Amino acid sequence: MPEYLYIHIPFCIKKCIYCDFLSVTYDEPYAKEYVDALCRELVLKKNSAGALKTIYIGGGTPSVLPEESFPQLFRSIRNNFEFSAGIEITVEANPGTINESKINTLLSVGINRISLGVQSFNDNELKTLGRIHTSDEAVKAIEMIKKAGINNFSIDLMYGIPEQTMVSWKETLSRAVGFSPKHISSYELTPEKKTPLYGMIDSKKIKMPDEELVLEMYNLAIDYLASRGYEHYEISNFTLQGFRCIHNMNYWNRGEYIGAGAGAHSFTNGVRSKNTGDIKKYIKTVNSGIIPKLESTKLTHTDEIKEFIFLGLRKTEGINITKAKELGLNIPASCKGLIDEGYLEMDENYLRLTRKGIVISNTVIVRMFYGLGLE
Ligand code: SF4
Repeated sequence: MPEYLYIHIPFCIKKCIYCDFLSVTYDEPYAKEYVDALCRELVLKKNSAGALKTIYIGGGTPSVLPEESFPQLFRSIRNNFEFSAGIEITVEANPGTINESKINTLLSVGINRISLGVQSFNDNELKTLGRIHTSDEAVKAIEMIKKAGINNFSIDLMYGIPEQTMVSWKETLSRAVGFSPKHISSYELTPEKKTPLYGMIDSKKIKMPDEELVLEMYNLAIDYLASRGYEHYEISNFTLQGFRCIHNMNYWNRGEYIGAGAGAHSFTNGVRSKNTGDIKKYIKTVNSGIIPKLESTKLTHTDEIKEFIFLGLRKTEGINITKAKELGLNIPASCKGLIDEGYLEMDENYLRLTRKGIVISNTVIVRMFYGLGLE
């Protein structure tokens, strides 16, 4: 039985120009109707999970919800699921949508980890991204979180922003570290199709930084954060000792989980499934007592191997060679070229990307698939 629960809140104050997540403009009555439906879905999924080790409330912007929605949601979670001792409960928050009272409510319902989407401490970069908050507001949000006694918080940052320089990126990293977050995520800005950013690049209204500069920024994050005591444990994630995100580790380990909410994914019994992303349809279907599943895919053996590789190599510890053997993979033979070229390294138990490999991880993974005859 899965022991990990994801809950999706698909509302934001305003869409950021680069965003391709499932989220629509926040509207309070609509959001309340959504939370009511979400609570009904949790009843429908009552018997589908064991004692929960983690709950992750992501979005969208979960912190945009009215304060009273959190006790309502957590009553429903507690009524339908058991909690393991030491459960990790994360909520994603946007600095523009929290205040002291809301943070205290989050604490009172049992949330013990906040992932704060800061992205940058440079106001011009925040403006370029279309974020709703300034760097000062991000600082205030962090101070409020710390004052409330939430020890385990993560700061999300972004590099590769148009007109971002090495100097401003270093400044963002150093300001983030100055708040001693237990965890930092550092994502490359990637222009996804159908986003306004993509259109702006296409019409030459905006220019993305050169690939070399972006690579330099990634390398700076790795070196700088390591020098400040942060372990680089996943391609985009860094942590102080003992504060890896347990929920996300389960994804990278291909563990089972259940998802609730519009567009939420689940993975149980070798089947990956997804709820409808049509929010109105989601509410209507759940309210009629049916789980609003959009699609379900039973993984083939090849799918499993591919997932095992591309998720496993995201972790800096790499993929477990014994597990690889159980899946029928002959790692030493299939990866020899990549190892000889210095992109992968192997010890008795693990195969992992080297520093040279991690910066071009997608290319390495594609070559590995090719070597295994998977493409
Ligand atoms: S806050 Fe996050 S989910 Fe919302 S629009 Fe911006 S990037 Fe997307």
